Amino acid sequence: MSAPLMGDASEPTLFEFSSPGRRAFSLRTTDLPDVPMDALVPRPHQRGEPLEIVEVSERDLVGHFTRLAHRQYSVDLGAYPLGSCTMKYNPKICDEAASLRAFAGVHPATPPSAAQGWLQVLVELEEMLCEITGMAAATLQPAAGAAGELTGLLLMRAYHAAKGDHRTRVIIPDSAHGTNPASVTLGGYEVTTIGSDERGCVDVAQLREVLGPDVAGIMLTNPNTLGLFEEDIVEIAAMVHAAGGLLYYDGANLNPILGVVRPGDMGFDIVHMNLHKTFATPHGGGGPGAGPVAVSQRLVDFLPGPRPVRASGGVGFELVRPPASIGRVHSYFGNSLVLLRAWSYIKLNGAEGLRRVAEIAVLNANWIRASLRDLYDSPYDRPVMHECVLSVASLKRATGLRALDVAKRLLEFGFHSPTVYFPLIVEEALMIEPTETESPETVAALVVALRTIAEEARADALAGVALRAVSSPRTTPVERVDEARAARQLVPTFDASSYHH
Ligand SMILES: *Cc1c(COP(=O)(O)O)cnc(C)c1O
Repeated sequence: MSAPLMGDASEPTLFEFSSPGRRAFSLRTTDLPDVPMDALVPRPHQRGEPLEIVEVSERDLVGHFTRLAHRQYSVDLGAYPLGSCTMKYNPKICDEAASLRAFAGVHPATPPSAAQGWLQVLVELEEMLCEITGMAAATLQPAAGAAGELTGLLLMRAYHAAKGDHRTRVIIPDSAHGTNPASVTLGGYEVTTIGSDERGCVDVAQLREVLGPDVAGIMLTNPNTLGLFEEDIVEIAAMVHAAGGLLYYDGANLNPILGVVRPGDMGFDIVHMNLHKTFATPHGGGGPGAGPVAVSQRLVDFLPGPRPVRASGGVGFELVRPPASIGRVHSYFGNSLVLLRAWSYIKLNGAEGLRRVAEIAVLNANWIRASLRDLYDSPYDRPVMHECVLSVASLKRATGLRALDVAKRLLEFGFHSPTVYFPLIVEEALMIEPTETESPETVAALVVALRTIAEEARADALAGVALRAVSSPRTTPVERVDEARAARQLVPTFDASSYHH
């Protein structure tokens, strides 16, 4: 198979490059004796026939993935304004720290006495995250935001159980991220959903009605999924605590509050953070993440263990098991190289730098909202935090343009699409999070692109021609895909036999 030109839409699969005998590796020969196959794998477990596996040269392998990479949009290439997920450029120095052999080469089972540097990083990261969130202690083990949520709910369960208090429900607002109700269910609780008021915040009157002795707690995101700050949070915290419940803070998107306001000061008991959104680990594509969970004093004894802590003697670091620990939620200490990136990012920025991250993230989101609210609907027309939710509903009625079309057309202007159709409570939603890493020029260009798309739609509708946005993108390696067909005709495996030489 000859290699296609870059930009050619049909990159072959690796099976199509396969040719018997080609190798992308060579193993060193040793002077150890050959071990017969039967000694390694008992005969009944041997396959018998050769495994159909790709045989490619290193050159073809690297070419294949490099061509695919060039057809891909990424955070390193340009702005990625995907709301609710904080996809931002991450400083490369944090990757460099994570690739240092002194850290990456340490086996996780190394005894504490020989891994003091690593334990210091973990303890300092825990202390810094507690300072940022206003909490007493944290576990760094959970591997992602959703894993942190489950850990938090298990902590909630352990706390109530220790008091002999049987509670069955957890309250979640209707604007919540989809992982929240899933985690509540997995944690063995029932979900009670409450509505948002006309300002896009928790409906306090409704909350008062659903609170009761069977409520284990409430899960909130603040700023919430509409990008709005819950101004009644202190009152909400007092109400939930008075009913014997705990407050869980979904801190997946910490960008807007860094150094400005702390969940602990708002009255929260449990906070998870997504280090892969705010603290320098790229995410998406299923790569490793980290979702540390920080807790208030009354939950410290239940944390997963063993926990690295400052040694009781005052010098060095040691491991302790919290007395009422819920047990492990990850092997060893979690995704440690993600943790090291976060440590580097926080040290790099310092307290002032982190506050500046929040200020610019919020400024950029408000810039977008203020520059677009004459062309797009702004369903909750208030200053936002790190992201703004606009709606294409009026444009759709006037021209037929949908949020999906806006997202697809934006690709042709060189931007990744924003989140669409989320949160569910906003019709034809566009959820835009420019983040703090984009320059004023880039944010201005994003505004121009979104304005152009709306104006084009009006002009096309007026002229009675098909909307340009509906057939876009045309200039990307992959044009408009049929999303429904991909879900209905699921062909998850590639038939290698048809390419066997
Ligand atoms: C991303 C996100 C989550 C889930 O985090 P994962 O690491 O993807 O599991 C939860 N809540 C909110 C608000 C999020 O944005």
